[in-house]
Amino acid sequence: MRATLDIKTLHQALPEDADLDDFAALDASSPLARLFTAVAQTMNDHPDLQAISGMQPAECYPDIEFPDPQSEISIEVVLCGATDDIPAVLDHDFGGQSPLGAFATSSGLFDTSAWLADRFRVLVSCSEDDLRQHILDERSQEMDPYSGQHDHHYLFSYLNTLTHELRHAVDFIEHGNGLTPSQVDDFNDTGDFEFGLRDVANGRGIRDDVDAELDDDEADNLMEDRVEAAGREWLSWALAKIEPGLFEEALAACTPTDLQVGMTPDCHP
Ligand SMILES: [Zn+2]
Repeated sequence: MRATLDIKTLHQALPEDADLDDFAALDASSPLARLFTAVAQTMNDHPDLQAISGMQPAECYPDIEFPDPQSEISIEVVLCGATDDIPAVLDHDFGGQSPLGAFATSSGLFDTSAWLADRFRVLVSCSEDDLRQHILDERSQEMDPYSGQHDHHYLFSYLNTLTHELRHAVDFIEHGNGLTPSQVDDFNDTGDFEFGLRDVANGRGIRDDVDAELDDDEADNLMEDRVEAAGREWLSWALAKIEPGLFEEALAACTPTDLQVGMTPDCHP
């Protein structure tokens, strides 16, 4: 299977009847949005997305029609203008915290008629204000909060959300032979497929390196370590292919001013 990325802003991705005023409008021409878009576009060419091999032996599931191994699978990449929009649009409480990104197995407001997603969808926050605040928070832990010497690293970590979540989506495609979250759940319910959503997400009992006997947390921890490492590798690969000026421009747009650093209560210059 081959994955292709369909990149949209949240306003473009939501159905017509959704109340767009509830969500931040993302300026797709902002430096950070252009950088995210460039990374996503570049990832379309990554070899790992060109040839995704399903890990399920299709012959063992005669009642399931898996996508053809040669087929193209679309992954929707949704760029959000505010971090808080992610739990809101998915109608999901991430333990009270807004994640910077998510691989969404549920539909949320994208399709209120179905609980689980009938496609592969990744959401990431692309907010320059949120990234600036993130940099301020990180700098407040440094010896010299006025120094921007690690800012490029904070931007890398922020961008890594995209490749990290993308890896979750590609894992899901690999583990389930391209079945969508709603298909996995349906086939699991009917007894045609012994793996549930969580197994297909973390690969428990499917991958050689995630034993079927592991409990949820152990399998999830293995998944997160694996996905984080792969996401960083993918991002480094993509950034090496992107015009460096885009990264620098986004960094400049999100760098806090000395005045903003001075106003952060955590800082003790
Ligand atoms: Zn993750």
